[in-house]
Amino acid sequence: MNSSVITFNEKNCTSCYSCVRNCPVKAIKVTKDSVYPQVIAERCIGCGSCVEACSFNAIIVADTIQIVKDLIKSGDKVAAICDPSIAGEFEDITDYRKFVKMIRKIGFEYVTEVAFGVDLVANRQAILTNDKSGKYYITSHCPVMNMYIEKYAPELVDNLTRTVSPAPATAVALRNIYGNDLKIVNISPCIGAKKDIDRHQNSAKIDAVLSFRELRKMFKEMNIREETVEFSDFDPPLGYKGALYPIPEGFVEACELSTSLIDGCFITAQGAVDAIDAVNQFSEHGNKFNKHFNLYFCEGCIVGSGSSPKGKKFIRHNLVREYVKKRVSNCDKKVWDANILKFSNTPSIKCNYKIDDQHLPTPTDDEMELAYEKLGKATSGRFTDCHSCGYGTCKKLAEAIAQGIATEDMCLTHTQSGNRIFHDQLQSTTKELISTQEEVSHLKDNLSLQQVRNAEVSKAMSLMVHSLKIGAAIIDDHMKIADSNASFVEILGDDAKEIDEVIPGLVGASISSLVPKNISKQIEFLLKGEEGIVTKDIEFSGRLVSASIFSLIPKKSVCILIRNLYDQEEKPQEIINRVTEVIQQNLRQVQEIGFILGEGASNTEKMLNTIIKLTKNQ
Ligand code: SF4
Ligand code: SF4
Repeated sequence: MNSSVITFNEKNCTSCYSCVRNCPVKAIKVTKDSVYPQVIAERCIGCGSCVEACSFNAIIVADTIQIVKDLIKSGDKVAAICDPSIAGEFEDITDYRKFVKMIRKIGFEYVTEVAFGVDLVANRQAILTNDKSGKYYITSHCPVMNMYIEKYAPELVDNLTRTVSPAPATAVALRNIYGNDLKIVNISPCIGAKKDIDRHQNSAKIDAVLSFRELRKMFKEMNIREETVEFSDFDPPLGYKGALYPIPEGFVEACELSTSLIDGCFITAQGAVDAIDAVNQFSEHGNKFNKHFNLYFCEGCIVGSGSSPKGKKFIRHNLVREYVKKRVSNCDKKVWDANILKFSNTPSIKCNYKIDDQHLPTPTDDEMELAYEKLGKATSGRFTDCHSCGYGTCKKLAEAIAQGIATEDMCLTHTQSGNRIFHDQLQSTTKELISTQEEVSHLKDNLSLQQVRNAEVSKAMSLMVHSLKIGAAIIDDHMKIADSNASFVEILGDDAKEIDEVIPGLVGASISSLVPKNISKQIEFLLKGEEGIVTKDIEFSGRLVSASIFSLIPKKSVCILIRNLYDQEEKPQEIINRVTEVIQQNLRQVQEIGFILGEGASNTEKMLNTIIKLTKNQ
């Protein structure tokens, strides 16, 4: 009974918590570990309200089709016992004898009515009711109400009629007639019957409960249709007024007790709200009633949770009555009386209901305070009691949070205020993002402009390098040669010449490996952003040379000029002329560079002029 008949398909679940709202016993928990609801099997009473409430098909009822197929395949004799509400379910089938045959076609050896089981249960109820012992009973034909009382009104367990529900009562009679090895499948509109299956053992055992929805699926799968089958009637034992059981007042009529409001001794309550309310009132004021209670969790089994959805209650009601009329008029009352006499005292149709109290411990004041804090109600004091979480009041939700079966996220006002904060944060983050995007795009524009300008500068410098007769090279910010002229390669010596043959202009070669350490240090120094011109006389490959180093683009590139001091070919005046010429030729570019780079480029012009002066002095 504590096995779960309900599971969740998380793929379909939208976390709307409609199931939580509709579960009458709060058997569905939501925890911080998962946004998806989970059924607490021991709290569940198998009422199916959650299945009806879920619009996304995210709740799955335990499927029995394969179990039924396996039972039939096993070679054992299998009987189908049909709840009388089948007459209301199959409004599309013109004669009940057709669906009897259709059920046989699935492979059942026997097809019988649960109506006879209802008659047995009703008979025992009538005996207890007529006993006038002063004790008042609650009917035990509805498995869901039985579980509700055991778990949530345990003080009333002793008032439950000590009889099994109609399906196991039918099983007792069937095994007596057809043998103890008989396997029994209950075809039922009741999901609760699936959950109740473990309760009944021995001859009352039900091997599987197939819902009407599943039966329809099997007909479809096996292509079993009304127009392809002939008539066939139920196997014995046949029922009598027990077939009225799917209509709530029908059970009292099956007991052959008065349904009169004046003389009758039953109060009938149907539907989750009324049936639970009736239990509560019976618990509080039982003695004041002087009546027995006849309880149905659904609005009658005609609209049980395992029947096809959206069935029209009163059409079904009428169909059941029409069906019972036929059945009763054909009933051999003598045979029926004999069968009732034979089976009504069988020990297996008696049942001891047991207390299975599922009330959760009442939270302490501290635990409640913490729960209110989580809900933000400790400070706001907003107790809207809006019901949207599924708990009747904010206090009840706080209790459930403290009991670990709910979370504050289920509270609409809490979520809305969380959403508002989130919305405000989102808005301000969006604003920041937009302004950052604008800055980035501005920077990008500047960067690409700078890149174009740098390329222009490099081009001008490259022209200059190749116009000079003294050794000249441009070094990039990775200490690699970006360009150099033939004199530079010549002065650097054989190693450089070899590289130049492979990579003309030594482009990409590391300057550190080609010049003395003090020169490469100076280059590094200037690349760090230092300004000025550095001139050094150094001995290089057995020759005395003068090296002048200066920054071209701050932190990006430097220029190195090397002159062989003893080279007769190298005439100072010629250098002066060439540099002057370059300056003249590139004056416009240098001016542009000055404009682009500001101080750095003006310095370049100054430096070139300094070189001229230095050379003149020499
Ligand atoms: S079957 Fe009923 S009791 Fe069980 S979880 Fe669903 S609504 Fe709750
Ligand atoms: S009223 Fe009928 S169908 Fe509904 S829970 Fe009870 S026995 Fe099942």
